[in-house]
Amino acid sequence: MNMPAAETDPEPEEARVAALMRHAPLEFARVVYGLNDRANGRAGSMAAEDVARTVRQGAPVTRERAEQRARSYLPVFGHEHCPRCWVFNGIKSPLHFRDHTEDRPESAVCRVCGAEYSTGPE
Ligand SMILES: [Zn+2]
Repeated sequence: MNMPAAETDPEPEEARVAALMRHAPLEFARVVYGLNDRANGRAGSMAAEDVARTVRQGAPVTRERAEQRARSYLPVFGHEHCPRCWVFNGIKSPLHFRDHTEDRPESAVCRVCGAEYSTGPE
């Protein structure tokens, strides 16, 4: 597609931060799924394993904390941190960005938890 850029397009910086902020509630949902899976004997699910890894690192995972963190997640352009590490663990892992190509939008990778986020404009 070759669409002209509309004047109302957000700046790339705003688009990146907005895209990351959309991930925070998704990570909170993963915490909830993970806790439920563990409580129901499904410890092998991906969300349950994310919770288990966080607990092994010494950080208790609770729904309340994860919800608070998801609400308080506010990445700063140029110093963005990983929404998953933040919501699960309360740590600020720096994200590494990969420029967009013709085939795919810009994306961000976390080298701590391995998460990858699409951060280009929609
Ligand atoms: Zn991470």
